[in-house]
Amino acid sequence: MTDCLFCRIVEREIAADVVRESDRFLAFRDIDPQAPTHVLVIPRKHVTSLDHADDESMVGGLLHFAREVAAAEGISESGYRVVLNTNADGGQTVFHLHGHVLGGRAMSWPPG
Ligand code: AMP
Ligand code: ZN
Repeated sequence: MTDCLFCRIVEREIAADVVRESDRFLAFRDIDPQAPTHVLVIPRKHVTSLDHADDESMVGGLLHFAREVAAAEGISESGYRVVLNTNADGGQTVFHLHGHVLGGRAMSWPPG
């Protein structure tokens, strides 16, 4: 059994509110939403962070999957943000590559 939280969600050992899946990726609602829509998109395969991701097609595929999630959530036209917190200064707390798909409200810039 892995001790990676998101691998355990992929394996369905931990419950999550899954909204979309493909052969390579999974999307589920963030447990602590920061916007009306807050979905996490992850590769099924464990990769620690964007900094560890050397598979170009996986990184590109993850972004394309995020776009599909945004469309399914109905936030494409109103707008959304895809965030990949990476390593300590980036604010990463779960060390399995994931993108936050945030929308349903206007976002400010710069991020905190
Ligand atoms: P980050 O800080 O970028 O590493 O993001 C990790 C995200 O995972 C946070 O937004 C958490 O709220 C979210 N999170 C942690 N545990 C769970 C869980 N069991 N199900 C869904 N989201 C989670
Ligand atoms: Zn993992």
